Amino acid sequence: MNRIFNFSAGPSMLPLSVLEKAASEMTDFEGSGMSVMEMSHRTPVYQGIIDEAESNLRKLMNIPDNYKVLFLQGGATQQFSAVPLNLMNKNRKADYIVSGQFSKKAADEAAKYGEVNVIASSKDRNFAYVPTVNEFSPDADYVHICYNNTIFGTVYNYIPDTGDIPLVADMSSGILSRPIDVSKFGLIYAGAQKNMGPSGLTVVIVREDLLGNAREGTPVMLDYKVQADNGSMYNTPPCYSIYVAGLVFKWLLETGGLEAREKINIEKANLLYDFLDESKLFSATADKEFRSLMNVCFVTGDAEKDKEFCSLASKAGFVNLKGHRSVGGMRASIYNAMPIEGVEKLVEFMRNYEKENA
Ligand SMILES: *Cc1c(COP(=O)(O)O)cnc(C)c1O
Repeated sequence: MNRIFNFSAGPSMLPLSVLEKAASEMTDFEGSGMSVMEMSHRTPVYQGIIDEAESNLRKLMNIPDNYKVLFLQGGATQQFSAVPLNLMNKNRKADYIVSGQFSKKAADEAAKYGEVNVIASSKDRNFAYVPTVNEFSPDADYVHICYNNTIFGTVYNYIPDTGDIPLVADMSSGILSRPIDVSKFGLIYAGAQKNMGPSGLTVVIVREDLLGNAREGTPVMLDYKVQADNGSMYNTPPCYSIYVAGLVFKWLLETGGLEAREKINIEKANLLYDFLDESKLFSATADKEFRSLMNVCFVTGDAEKDKEFCSLASKAGFVNLKGHRSVGGMRASIYNAMPIEGVEKLVEFMRNYEKENA
């Protein structure tokens, strides 16, 4: 077996033990004589799989009982539309903090449905930081943030206190990276393919009082109330992706939960950031206070060198390090499944490259 270190921003690495477990059950899930892929979702066996996934996610994130957990499709991008359709329902207004490309896309989509106030943006310095905001429009139906900015490698170092206004967060690349107080949010959504499982699954965690007020004309699949009332099975859910995400949740619980995971993630990220801070060739692009534990962005300052570095790294077994086209340079996505050795070896490789090129 030849597993390489894959620094992709998503879809990204999965824990090897999860892949092996899925492989061992591929053709016969627990004596059912069939693969999970072949199973009707309307069977007790599959109901067991989705129920266990939900209960393990609830345990991991300590999700309060007055929140629903939905397993949906359409990616985080579909939630850019679902959120305003369901929640922009009193004053048809919402506040958006724009801290990167995804939050900009979310704001643009919501503007189709009502008044969007971009109350802060970090565009002035190419999203190298997260705006600190503590004032909101009193008549906003909700406030939307993107918790971890995948492309720019920044993360909120605070949770905005929006009082009675529901706080909505795109947590696609930050979910399960550390403990989060779910009760501070009205709604959390995340595409699975960063830190939870295969693509095709989107997790929504929503406070119950926010259900049931979708605007007229909301497509049935985007109505949270319909999805909640049907246990995420109004139609066929992303069965196999839910199963693999469930294996990931179990793996996280068995390895100490999110407190333990946060410690490892800090250790991993610090290996890279400490090296970047002392390097004469490479430098981190995000402001220190807002550096992401999950996506580490860096540059040499010379686009040609960046290109050469990525290509040499790739040949040495460190793949998908090329930064997003809007930032350039490099991005090492080091989600939960990236082993610490991957980061240690990458730093060693960077050190050697620096010796020869500084
Ligand atoms: C990847 C990503 C998205 C887009 O996710 P899709 O599932 O492809 O729609 C949105 N927001 C954030 C923060 C992301 O990292």
